[in-house]
Amino acid sequence: MTYWTAEDNVAGKPGRALFVILPTIGCYRYRIGKACYMCAYPTAAPARKWSQKELLEYLQKALQTAAGYERVAVRIFTSGSFLDDSELRPETRREMFRLISRMENVREIVVESRSELVRYEAVRELAEIAGDRHFEVAIGLETANDDVADVAINKGNTFADFVRAADTVHSAGAYVKTYLLLKPAFMSEMNAIEDVKASIIKAEPYTDTFSINPTNVQRGTLYERLWEKREYRPPWLWSVVEVLRWAKEELDGKRVLCDPVGAGSKRGPHNVGGEEDRAIGRAIKAFSTTQDVDHLRIEDDGKGSRRVWEYVVDRGLLDWQLGEDWF
Ligand code: SF4
Repeated sequence: MTYWTAEDNVAGKPGRALFVILPTIGCYRYRIGKACYMCAYPTAAPARKWSQKELLEYLQKALQTAAGYERVAVRIFTSGSFLDDSELRPETRREMFRLISRMENVREIVVESRSELVRYEAVRELAEIAGDRHFEVAIGLETANDDVADVAINKGNTFADFVRAADTVHSAGAYVKTYLLLKPAFMSEMNAIEDVKASIIKAEPYTDTFSINPTNVQRGTLYERLWEKREYRPPWLWSVVEVLRWAKEELDGKRVLCDPVGAGSKRGPHNVGGEEDRAIGRAIKAFSTTQDVDHLRIEDDGKGSRRVWEYVVDRGLLDWQLGEDWF
């Protein structure tokens, strides 16, 4: 079953998030051979096409697992775009929102969409059903630099596309969550930190919540091929801590979320691995849930990895220049 609950920030306060991965046919970019270079999510699309009725029943079942919690966010992923009519028909989307809105404990609803699939009518009708719940459309900007989006990510969207989509979401009465990738390929650790900070500054006027997504190396992707050749290393956890601390202080009042998937593993954000890394991963998650920056006041991990990270960042080292011990 691809739904689960976990502690998370729910419309500004700690609560429980229900994550649901709907088995739609997945992202159309993958189906036309133009998937983002770091993304293998659409490969998880089921071999058999699920009917719209089955998808609705699936959501209904998932919602039952959140029934006992006081303060709930429902976060729906489709390995594609919730607003893509080829994945979910408009009447299915509306019915899903009706089901969710019958639950009084739900305070927040989040769906995802690529920029070009955001349309006023589609968002407006869902916002009306959501009522006074915090309804967010999450858009994968990844970076505000169009060259990086093209060359290192293959996003197929520009910053201008994101601005148009964000304006549409706002005018339709919903909020915007902006996904940013830390760190795109072909960049030093230093450049990756600079890229995400510059993206935050540029996207801030159009964003209500930032989600900083440290790369995890997914199977069958270009990022995996680079990683196998020691030409790509996922970000250091220290970079994640640095960016989150900076962002929270810079963006007074806005939510900054982060779920460092695979923290401490070679495929996920890591320093030198081990329990120390897992502890930093938990601190990041605690910050994300509470928005209390004190969780990020970590000076070192007892293994001296922070000094190594500072060396890598200060000298602007590229990943292929790192020794095996630091990889
Ligand atoms: S990151 Fe999003 S837009 Fe890109 S291929 Fe994956 S699901 Fe599609």
